[in-house]
Amino acid sequence: MIDLLPWHRAPLDEILLRRASLPHALLIHGKQGIGKIEFARAIAQSLLCESAEHGVACGTCNACGWYREGNHPDFRELVPENLSDDESDAGDTTDGAGTKDGTQESAKEKKKSKEIKIDQVRELAQFMTLSTHRDGFRVLVIFPAETMNLSAANALLKTLEEPPPRTVILLVTDQMARLLATIRSRCQRILLASPTTDESLKWLNGQGILKPEAALAMAGGAPLDAIAFADRTYQTERQTFLGALTDANADYVAAAQTFEKSDLVNIITWLQTWVADLVLARLAGEVSHHVDHKSEISRLAARVELPKLFRYEASLRQARRSISHPLNARLLLEQLLISYQQAIK
Ligand SMILES: [Zn+2]
Repeated sequence: MIDLLPWHRAPLDEILLRRASLPHALLIHGKQGIGKIEFARAIAQSLLCESAEHGVACGTCNACGWYREGNHPDFRELVPENLSDDESDAGDTTDGAGTKDGTQESAKEKKKSKEIKIDQVRELAQFMTLSTHRDGFRVLVIFPAETMNLSAANALLKTLEEPPPRTVILLVTDQMARLLATIRSRCQRILLASPTTDESLKWLNGQGILKPEAALAMAGGAPLDAIAFADRTYQTERQTFLGALTDANADYVAAAQTFEKSDLVNIITWLQTWVADLVLARLAGEVSHHVDHKSEISRLAARVELPKLFRYEASLRQARRSISHPLNARLLLEQLLISYQQAIK
């Protein structure tokens, strides 16, 4: 049987039990970072598998082999262009100054659409109208469904209104409100429940994650996001940075220099969640993000003035809005760290 995320097993069984009478469109929604696309793919592969075990894909038959290699003739996945390539060219964007190649590369990157376009929906016409190759289900996954632009969504609507036989369309989203109401109303909604903290921690432990509790808290309880947070380099950097935040007398100009090459989005996220923890610790004696630094946060929180923190929090929000523009990273960091020092003194 194929590997499943443990919290997917029960809801998957429930859907596959209905395999003979499945509606033609399911809208899978739920929190970010809990594996909704993995869930949709598990449904798809299980519907296509030709020797399913208790309904779940076997992982070894011909159909499963084609599925895994991405060439099952009765399966399509519809994603925006920017998600359509495999990881091979998703390498880090270095700061490499504008060499000719670099410029061309970034221009190419920019052109990749973040929307699912009408042409992509139209290209499915043949897939949708021909009879299926393997005499089984035809499955289409659309992800993230909210990235369909208006004309793409309207084109899909026609298919949803007159679905071809033996066809299952799986739309996946964590932003339900951004879908057209007419699309939503033609799908059966499946809320994929978030795993419990225990389930998530058990799974993260099995993945060999360093400090799974801290990673899970940082990811707001979403285990797949926690994996990213747990990346070792990230953790080391985070520990050093948070270490600097615990010392009100630290040399913050030097700290800004140390972290000027770091990902500013991470840095600002750490600052925002740190401040949120300070506020929570002050008001309720709790922390919710940096649980591995609870004692330092509580110590600092005992003496901070909330109005100062709230003003600082507002400046962080503003900084977050401006980080996509080119600017002097070290200067911004210096400014943020020195304001932090003033906010906690
Ligand atoms: Zn199989």
